[in-house]
Amino acid sequence: MSNIATHRIRVGACECLIVKDGTAGNPNLDEFMQPVPPELADYEMFMEGGLMLIDDADRRILLDAGNGPNRGPRTHAAEAAFAAADITPASVDIILLTHGDPDHIGGLLSADGALVYPNARFILHQDLWEAWHAPPEAGLYFPSQAAAVRRLVELLRDRLVDTGSLVDTECEVSPGIRAIPALGHRVGHTAYLIESSGQRLLHIGDAAFDPVFLQHTGIPNVRDTSPEQARDTRRMLVERAIAEEAAVVGSHFRLPGVGKLTRRGEDRYTWIPVASN
Ligand SMILES: [Zn+2]
Repeated sequence: MSNIATHRIRVGACECLIVKDGTAGNPNLDEFMQPVPPELADYEMFMEGGLMLIDDADRRILLDAGNGPNRGPRTHAAEAAFAAADITPASVDIILLTHGDPDHIGGLLSADGALVYPNARFILHQDLWEAWHAPPEAGLYFPSQAAAVRRLVELLRDRLVDTGSLVDTECEVSPGIRAIPALGHRVGHTAYLIESSGQRLLHIGDAAFDPVFLQHTGIPNVRDTSPEQARDTRRMLVERAIAEEAAVVGSHFRLPGVGKLTRRGEDRYTWIPVASN
């Protein structure tokens, strides 16, 4: 049970449960940010994996599905954390996918290849869905994902027809939830803006691996598929969060991973963590 870590924050009438799925540890900042400015020479980056479930009494909405059971024991803590919080996969109504990396979609499939969330409506970017139809050689997903991607296409094909599940431009996908294409990290990467009773939360997925990338929006992350596009996306997301007075959460920020941003200068912002319960 020691691996279970949960945090709760409120956004208007929504209760957001954030659970730990895995820990990636302390990579060196220069493995990602290049160039590292002198003032960040001693910055200690920290990455872990968090999943967010939003409950507004009418709906349960899951942001990404985590590693799942097929990626080894170091990860995949979310399943136990949700079970401990009395949340069953069958009770999830909507799954919002930010992108298709294995630590975000692995948990959609059980060890025997069944769909873990039988009743959920899926929202994802059109380009991601099309990428899943491409052969592994196209490089749009990791070769190790080929079998899982094939299986997901089989299982989701009928669910995504004419339901507004595939987005390619900003739109409201469910009352109070806007999908915002946030391209550059991976194909079809999408952020989601949740609004309830005048409060807002912007989930940016992997648009930034650590808040330091939001504090210095002018510097690329070389691990993004399209580093310059992803840098411009971070600038857009940060400005959007400030304009909307939205809290921001990232998939790999130190949990609970929620904060607010204020402008400090050109491409410079301050990150203020938001306390959770
Ligand atoms: Zn990730």
